[in-house]
Amino acid sequence: MPRTHKTLPRLFLDAPLMQGGAVALDKDQTNYLLNVLRRRSGDAVVVFNGRDGAFLAAIEQLSKKTVGLSLGERTAAQTAPSDLWYGFAPLKSARLDYVVQKATEMGAGIIQPVITRHTQLTRINLDRLRANAREAAEQCEVLSIPRIDDEIGLRELLATWQDIHGDRQLVFADEGEEAASPVAALAAIEGRRIGLLIGPEGGFSDDERELLRAQAFVVPISLGPRILRADTAAVAALAVIQSIIGDWR
Ligand code: SAH
Repeated sequence: MPRTHKTLPRLFLDAPLMQGGAVALDKDQTNYLLNVLRRRSGDAVVVFNGRDGAFLAAIEQLSKKTVGLSLGERTAAQTAPSDLWYGFAPLKSARLDYVVQKATEMGAGIIQPVITRHTQLTRINLDRLRANAREAAEQCEVLSIPRIDDEIGLRELLATWQDIHGDRQLVFADEGEEAASPVAALAAIEGRRIGLLIGPEGGFSDDERELLRAQAFVVPISLGPRILRADTAAVAALAVIQSIIGDWR
């Protein structure tokens, strides 16, 4: 992908951005720029807010502890956020951080924790998930941060799917599916709005699999002849979706 300013740190700011504008940074962002990245007054960074595109900005030390940014030229116009929905059964802490970061890198636009029978974790720190999504977005140069929705039970998700998601198709990584290529199943839903559902480390229960497969909007796929860990399955499934019917084409 052609890139500009790739050596500069990128920072998400929840503030209006425009050329010639100025932004004061909060404590965490100041600490990150001065102490983690060791930047100083006059150094350049790239900032984005998910709405106005990306801008070059120069650091201005306002006082010993506060830093501001003066905004220069816009380096990228805002792009539409991804519409790819990713639902997953939350995993324990380090792996949970990992799947949210990887889903962001792989281009998910909506991230939805789904509680299933064998889910290991039922109380989720959404702020932590959001921080992971933000950091990953800063690194991988997407201009929108994925939305993270409150957790929902699998049965409720399926019962309300069509009301909430309309005709979005739900690709279901089914470890019990006969090993076969997912290419044809995905090619058949090209052009549709897409969701992807990955199960917990313990897998889906038999009745959950049955319920999923009974829904007209569910498209079961196999990810090959090996059982993948949930975090691996997520990255693998997002890669085949992006390459066959998504934004890698
Ligand atoms: N412990 C379970 C495996 C769970 S793997 C068992 O032994 O059956 C975690 C999740 O990754 C699964 O629920 C599924 O969504 C996905 N997954 C892993 N391997 C897969 C495969 N070969 N095909 C489709 N989905 C797979």
